[in-house]
Amino acid sequence: MKLLLYIPSKTADEWYAAFARALPGAELRAWAPGLDWQADYATFWYPPRDLLDGQKHLKAAFNLGAGVDGTLKALTPPPGVPLVRLEDAGMGRQMDEYVGWAVMRYFRRLDEYAAQQARSEWTIHRPRKHADFVVGMMGLGVLGARVAQAILPLGFPVRGWSGSAKSIEGIRTFAGAAELPAFLGGTQALVCMLPLSPDTKGLLNRTTLGQLPRGAYVINVARGGLVVDDDLLALLDQGHLAGTTLDVFHEEPLPASHRFWSHPKVFITPHCSALTLIEDSVAQVAGKIQRLERGEAVTGIVDLRRGY
Ligand code: NDP
Repeated sequence: MKLLLYIPSKTADEWYAAFARALPGAELRAWAPGLDWQADYATFWYPPRDLLDGQKHLKAAFNLGAGVDGTLKALTPPPGVPLVRLEDAGMGRQMDEYVGWAVMRYFRRLDEYAAQQARSEWTIHRPRKHADFVVGMMGLGVLGARVAQAILPLGFPVRGWSGSAKSIEGIRTFAGAAELPAFLGGTQALVCMLPLSPDTKGLLNRTTLGQLPRGAYVINVARGGLVVDDDLLALLDQGHLAGTTLDVFHEEPLPASHRFWSHPKVFITPHCSALTLIEDSVAQVAGKIQRLERGEAVTGIVDLRRGY
């Protein structure tokens, strides 16, 4: 079995070694421009446009991330070749931690206390009520559904929104464009866990974010392209939104001149809410290759028409 790899990262050697351990007997080859080599499988992250050109026997292509927006911008797999993405692969637990922390930081007003510390101010605020602090999860897929359930034990009412209707114990669910205003209207802390696709690009804009109640918070751990930055900043400046935590941006690294860096209501992290874990990811991809080799079905196949 022949596996083509393209991993543009400082950790490329670790990835290759992990694949060699997980698939003993497989022939591994790192992609390079002009390589003339027919592979059975390919695995990559942010591939160049011509990565899969000329591949005639490919059985599946594996994206080394949960989101495929970057991959689909560069290439479309050859007809009939499934594109398979990572499903959780150790990222879910990291997302639970990050989102739980971000929600709790706002609930306990730690953002306000940090600002007070900067001006040596000692002021105690009245506690909020859990029942009033509704957390709304946009996207109820592998990660969104998991994180929504991880929030529940913190005591907040949790609601979720997705494309198709879902039933998840303890979570009030909404689906489709028609139910988006109702979902947003009752959400105090909005968490975005949607894929970036032609349908979701710019979905968090003046209109939708304006439908959140005054004083709401926005936490984006999905992709920067979901947000219209100027609209988010305008709503923060107007006081409609109380704060935002952003892990992802249109351009990464976030340019030094961007207003997000210095805005007092913006908290930034450098796309680290959930990092790709080499061992977990390789185990998942290798396991799926082995299943395909046995003629079994695999999950995580991207719907190219929907873009996720
Ligand atoms: P999934 O594909 O499992 O879930 C996507 C969810 O979004 C589904 O519930 C889907 O609805 C919903 N959705 C998609 N399009 C729409 C739409 N137009 N309207 C309403 N709902 C929609 O993805 P994952 O949970 O695995 O990952 C989500 C995203 O998180 C990834 O695409 C990636 O961009 C991002 N991510 C970010 C990371 C980071 O480090 N910051 C790390 C990992 C992932 P339905 O259920 O009906 O299909």
